[in-house]
Amino acid sequence: MPIATRAFAATAADKPLTPYSFERRDPGPDDVLIDIKYCGVCHSDLHAARGETGGTAFPLVPGHEIAGVVKAVGSNVTRFKEGDRVGVGCMVDSCRECASCQEGVEQYCIPGFTGTYGGKDKKGGTSEAITQGGYSDHITVDQHFVLSIPDSLALDVAAPLLCAGITTYSPLKEWGVGPGSKVAVIGLGGLGHMAVKLAAAMGAEVTVLSTSDRKKADAERMGAKHFLINSDKDAMKAAAEKFDLIINTVSATHEIASHIQLLARDGTMIMLGLTTEGLPVFALPLLWRRRRIAGSLIGGIKETQEMLDFCAEHGIACDIETIAPDQINDAYERMLKSDVRYRFVIDMEKLAA
Ligand SMILES: [Zn+2]
Ligand SMILES: [Zn+2]
Repeated sequence: MPIATRAFAATAADKPLTPYSFERRDPGPDDVLIDIKYCGVCHSDLHAARGETGGTAFPLVPGHEIAGVVKAVGSNVTRFKEGDRVGVGCMVDSCRECASCQEGVEQYCIPGFTGTYGGKDKKGGTSEAITQGGYSDHITVDQHFVLSIPDSLALDVAAPLLCAGITTYSPLKEWGVGPGSKVAVIGLGGLGHMAVKLAAAMGAEVTVLSTSDRKKADAERMGAKHFLINSDKDAMKAAAEKFDLIINTVSATHEIASHIQLLARDGTMIMLGLTTEGLPVFALPLLWRRRRIAGSLIGGIKETQEMLDFCAEHGIACDIETIAPDQINDAYERMLKSDVRYRFVIDMEKLAA
């Protein structure tokens, strides 16, 4: 029997999100049916709900920072049982066969992974042709894409780790951050605040770059040693060639040339923000110190589990503001003004009956 599901959905790009009902597939042999308790609110949700990324099929239920409890499992499911605390991030499926999938980096699946919402639902069996996300009370997901949330992490503060946490953890690991590393984080938002906490826990000396000192005390509380205002030309000059890695979380179009100067020889700037316009980069500062600019997209399933375990071990979680489902439209407006410290999380148990 299909699972009756209540949700909040965008019905058109120019409409607010409203209550919405649909059906999830009944768990197949490899599936886990999850009772969603909390869902984080990512900037990508807003872009998709407003049709800004192109090709959004409406109605759309956003949400890919899902934390909940297992309600039922299929006959082949061995890793999970009823009552387990689990999470689902940005992916619910991939081809499982390409080189990326074989190497456990499903986010780079060559034919493309199935997004948690707005993706083509390969497994079908729902009343929707596309996947629908976590602003809902249930979700059915293949066990391969379900994560275990360690007991010491509360579900509400763990939810945003499934996107904001892994998106920052993966490049920190890939670029070998550890004791002695000098890491700068541009922008202290949902991604940036996780980058600071994770890099500090890995032993790095962390500097936050921001447009004002509004968040200085927060940055220090999260583990940053230094705070730099990027319009302060003298301070920027003094920080030249200081950093091994810069995590750039800014999603608005911004000037990056002066930030490249902050990289030491062989340093790398990781682009995590989804800027829709080009950013001018000059060759000379790159070749002068063999600097690199790189991108990184979320993380694989194995690495996401590793990140959750790392967070549990180091007592790291997201700073959140909990909202009820019907506050989502106001939350989007506040996100556009960067008025959130540091992630909205929807309490899904507050979905009206
Ligand atoms: Zn996200
Ligand atoms: Zn693949």
